[in-house]
Order: sequence, then C-alpha cells, then structure tokens
Amino acid sequence: MGKLAITGGTPVLKAQDEGLFHWPIVNDAMRAAQAQVLETGNMSGTDIARRFEASFASWQERKYALSHNNGTNALNAAMFAVGLGPGDEIICTSVTYWASCTGALALGAAVVFCDIDPDTLQMDPASLEAHITPRTKAIMVVHYMAHPAPMDEIMAIARKHGLKIIEDVSHAQGGHYKGRKLGTFGDVAAMSLMSCKSFAIGEGGMLVTDDAEIFKRAVVFGHYDRIIDVCTDEEMEGPKNIPWGGLKNRMHQTSAAIGLEQLKKHDAEIAEIDRAMKYFWKGISDIPGISMIYPKEEGSDKAGWYASRFLYDAAAFGGISNVTFCEALNAEACGGFSFGCNMPLHFSSVFFDIDIYGHGRPTASAFLPDGVDLRAETGALPNAEKVNMRVLGEPWFKHDDHAKIDPYIEALRKVAANVGELQPINDTTPILGGIALSKRKK
Ligand SMILES: *Cc1c(COP(=O)(O)O)cnc(C)c1O
Repeated sequence: MGKLAITGGTPVLKAQDEGLFHWPIVNDAMRAAQAQVLETGNMSGTDIARRFEASFASWQERKYALSHNNGTNALNAAMFAVGLGPGDEIICTSVTYWASCTGALALGAAVVFCDIDPDTLQMDPASLEAHITPRTKAIMVVHYMAHPAPMDEIMAIARKHGLKIIEDVSHAQGGHYKGRKLGTFGDVAAMSLMSCKSFAIGEGGMLVTDDAEIFKRAVVFGHYDRIIDVCTDEEMEGPKNIPWGGLKNRMHQTSAAIGLEQLKKHDAEIAEIDRAMKYFWKGISDIPGISMIYPKEEGSDKAGWYASRFLYDAAAFGGISNVTFCEALNAEACGGFSFGCNMPLHFSSVFFDIDIYGHGRPTASAFLPDGVDLRAETGALPNAEKVNMRVLGEPWFKHDDHAKIDPYIEALRKVAANVGELQPINDTTPILGGIALSKRKK
C-alpha cells in the first residue's frame, strides 16, 4: 500500500463538489426568457434571433452576426461564404474538432492539414505556409482550447498569398489576441454556442463578419426566410425563399432568448473562470515537468479556459505516461483531470480515401487534378501526432472558490511527489494518435 489513492492510500477528496464544475450556469432571467418563447409558441421565428444577432454583433465588435442552429453549420456557411468550392483547398490544423473543416468536402473542396506548435497547440505558421499550393483558397484558424492562434503571422501569410481567413472561435468566445477580440481578425468567424462551450446557450452557432457579401452568401446558403432581405429581383428570379445550400440553418428561438441573457453575464463568467484557473496554477506552477499553456503576448488571454490543456513531460516523472499520471490524479480528486486532446484528423480516411458522394474516387480528390494526393503521411505532422501523449487537461473550475480548488492543487502535488509509486506498465502504448498510427497503412 502506498500513499497515493491509486496504490491504496487515502484520496485527497472524498467527493467532487458538483457546484464547482456545473455548467452552464442558468439564472432566472434565462428560465423566464425560454418559458416565454415556449408559451408564445415563438420557437421557429426569427425576431428573437435577430435581436440576439444585433446584441452579439455589437459585443463581438463586428458589423454582421448571423445565428445558426449549431456551430458546425455556422462554419459550413462561412466556408461557402468565402467562396470555397470545387477544386479548392482549405488549410486547417490537424488537431481540432472535426467540425472545423469537414464541411469543406460537401463544397467539393479538399482539406489540407498543417501542424501545430508543440507548446501552444495552435497553428504553426511555418507549417501553414509550407502547405500552401496554387489551389489554396482559405485558412481555417482555430483558437484551440481557448488559446489564441498567432494571428500576426497567420494574417501576414494570408495577405502574401491572397487567402481568405475563417476563424473558428468555438473554444474562445470573448478571448483576445494582443488586445483585439478573437473573431475580428479573419474575413469571417464562426463558432459553436452549444451547452458544453464557454458561451453556452444550448444547440446554437454564430457567424460574424464585417463583409456584406459574406453575410449575404451565408444567408442565401441556409436561411430560406431571409433571402428576401439580401437578394434583389435582378439577382434572383422566381421564388426567393429557396436556400442555395438546400439547408435550413435557422436557430431555435429558445436558444436565441437564452443567448440574449448569456450575453449579459458572459464576460463576468469568463473573468471568474480566469481568476480560478490562475489561482490553481499559482499553487502548482513550481512543479517540474508540468507547465501551463497560456499566451505570452501582452493583451492576449485564454477566455473561458474551454477544454484547457497543460504540458506534461513524462521524462520528468520517471517515464510515467500522461494516461497513468491522469488516472492517479483522478483517484485523488474524484475526477476532474483528463489526458490527451483531439485525435489528429489527418489519420482519418474521411479526408483522403472515402468516396462520400459517389464520384467514383475519394471525395477529397474528386475535383483535384489527376495525381494530386494531399494526404499527410505518418510522421509529416510530428507535433500533431505526438500531442496526445504530451498534454493533460486540468479541472475546469467555474468559481473562484479557493477552499474548493485547494484539494486539486494538493492532488497534483501529491501525485508528483509520489510518482515513484506508479508503475510504467503499458506506458509505452501511445494513446489515441498512436493507436491510429499503428493501424495506418501507407
Ligand atoms: C464544438 C465545436 C464545433 C462544432 O460546433 P457544434 O455547435 O457542436 O456544431 C466546431 N469547431 C470546434 C473547434 C468545436 O469545438
């Protein structure tokens, strides 16, 4: 029997305090707002959605906001809106949620994956530039796990090559890069507002832009009842209520009503999360082998700390993997920690091999010149391929309650101090990305 809970010792915490983590935070104003939508039977209109858009646009510091039924469709609309189409390529980081880029395939475009910076987990500008071809049309920039992407470098590359930029702000609503709000850098930004994200209103998404043409294209793509607002008789003959994408992307108005209330408290909520997470890090930052991932530039932040990860150096802990270390942490603290992050997308046959739409060849290359294969070979994106073995997820504290956060600090200190009790059995099994690596055929 050792000191660690996982080796038979007494855990630091006996039970997890649900209130410390419960999300989203629902107040009476939200309850009343959604009840009113239901009672008036106004779930499928656009009046509340338009009010939400107006408030959101002003908070987001952009001219136009267009609400969507989810972030995936907001991103798909953004890709259509910048003109991504057959034979085009869009560059995206391999380590992100699939919805950042998968919709490109339905537009006839191919997704080209680039690598991440191993320390920030954000798009690596050098890898981005190395993946540009004459067919590249756009860059999908994800502010991954609440950390801002290096926008100065990315914008410079986009300008040099004449590329469109779409920001995926699903992890960082209200965040900043060098004092400027995320979602205001690219031609257009889109984001998820679903229940687990920092800006949580239920299923929902938002597209924001300053560009009237991009807004218009997003409307005609999936908002049948608003085409009349943006298209003139000269532009379209016949009925003007047929969405070009054949899609219906309208937001449920209970989400919009809740969103109007969330806007009033979002900045205060993410500020409290920021204080809580920084308090946690103050208690553990001297432990060798772990390091916080946080932007170094003045005026940059990690708004909401959504799915936040930190770096874990197994070598500093006797070769114990992040998976085993995480199990020991969760035994001390009744959960709250996690290991790894998203599995690299460039391992998925969806982007290279599967004939999704019946073109008689892989969808990804259906519109590319013969012989062009955009597949990233194993080893080509080394940071993306290794990241799942190098990161841990810290508990997502919603309240700056020091007495309740202290046990998590103690748990980390305790596991780090007694790491010798852990067995490095099976610890060479690389997780997630590694599993795919071994299965992948050339
Ligand atoms: C959640 C998420 C999406 C998709 O949003 P939904 O609202 O779930 O459709 C897109 N991109 C990223 C990075 C996400 O995390």
